[in-house]
Amino acid sequence: MINNKELDLLKQALTTLSSGFSDLPEYSTTLDVSRVDATLQALAIKMQDNYPYHHPLYAGQMLKPPHPVARLAYMLSMWVNPNNHALDGGIASSALEKEAVAELGEMMGYTAPLGHLTSGGTMANMEALWVARQLHPGAMIVASEQAHYTHSRISAVLGLKFQSVPVNDRGQMDVDALRSILSGGAVGTVVATLGTTGIGAVDQLDEILALQKEFKFRVHVDSAYGGYFRIANATREAVTRAFAQIQNADSIVIDPHKHGLQPYGCGCILFRDASVGRFYKHESPYTYFSSAELHLGEISLECSRAGAAAAALWATQQLLPLDVSGEFSQMLDQSLAAAQKLYDLVEISDNYQALLQPALDIVVFGVADKSASVVSEKARNIFNRTAEKDLHLALIELPFSLVSPYWPDLTHDRDTVTCLRSCLMKSDHIHWVEEIHSVLEEVA
Ligand SMILES: *Cc1c(COP(=O)(O)O)cnc(C)c1O
Repeated sequence: MINNKELDLLKQALTTLSSGFSDLPEYSTTLDVSRVDATLQALAIKMQDNYPYHHPLYAGQMLKPPHPVARLAYMLSMWVNPNNHALDGGIASSALEKEAVAELGEMMGYTAPLGHLTSGGTMANMEALWVARQLHPGAMIVASEQAHYTHSRISAVLGLKFQSVPVNDRGQMDVDALRSILSGGAVGTVVATLGTTGIGAVDQLDEILALQKEFKFRVHVDSAYGGYFRIANATREAVTRAFAQIQNADSIVIDPHKHGLQPYGCGCILFRDASVGRFYKHESPYTYFSSAELHLGEISLECSRAGAAAAALWATQQLLPLDVSGEFSQMLDQSLAAAQKLYDLVEISDNYQALLQPALDIVVFGVADKSASVVSEKARNIFNRTAEKDLHLALIELPFSLVSPYWPDLTHDRDTVTCLRSCLMKSDHIHWVEEIHSVLEEVA
């Protein structure tokens, strides 16, 4: 779990950091070493009560360990503890945030976007829908039935009407259904999900944008989970086509704390048209004094934010630049390959039922039996039994209609089907798929 080299590197970097402040008068802090030690030991024991998120046999929920450089950069920053609300609280880390966000914007194909980091995808999506409301007050938000639940909830918070659009049998927003909702005339913004959280479906952004010829609406892309796949090379053709259009969306959310190797507390919102910054304008009597330059709090709904998150993201992007031919892109390709391999193994298994092909790196599949109710019960059972063997998967409740095209003889005695779900987000997963599959067969 730990590599001692990491702690040596941190110590060396801290020495360099503190040398920048060595002109200040001496002062000392007291540390009650034995009590801190006892406290940390007690905490370490408590923290053992977690699933082994860092290990490749954890292949359940959308959890990806931070890169060591991100973890170290975050910890290094903790000795300064900068606040990226204002330059007064975080000079260096605000500059790092602007740089890192510009790189994310470039990855998405935006030329001069407005953007900033957020505490996560929820806040980032909230800012996107809030700007949508400022531009089109009273207009409706629509997103697919497989979109993250946050969109209907945020719409309620913002006092906006929300409607779900049905999905096709690949879990994508049904474009014909969207067209008929648009023809009603009340829609202000369509949320396209590029990588749904449940099954990794990628909405057909190219076809959604094509509807703008006929109807006027904003497009917001929620790619909190999937955004980085824009620079993967091994995506299927239809997925590549959707990601290739992302620069034509009005706003984009991407979560560096999902696929971007960051500790939690790192989402990002990008707006194609930087002039929406006018909506954020406010006066703060306390904060913006050190400089006439842009303070990030002037373009963000959140006030205090961790400068450490910006430092960690910047460091990660220095080490692993966001380009199509780099090491980071290869890691994404390895996740895609792992998902395809698990799908292939499930497809030839008598004990499991393959469902839709993975568009990204999430695989969902059923446990073979005759009826939705028995299949659901068995999925829970397998979920518990694999965990006993240290293989951690997740469960998902899928609508019967999304399962039945792949499972025509399944009896419809329940409206949802509990299935197994596996997010193969670690680049190492590719070396563990056979092991994962063999545990699955063993417990079947
Ligand atoms: C995770 C996720 C969110 C919510 O983001 P948080 O970082 O958990 O707040 C929103 N949309 C999608 C598609 C996601 O995957």
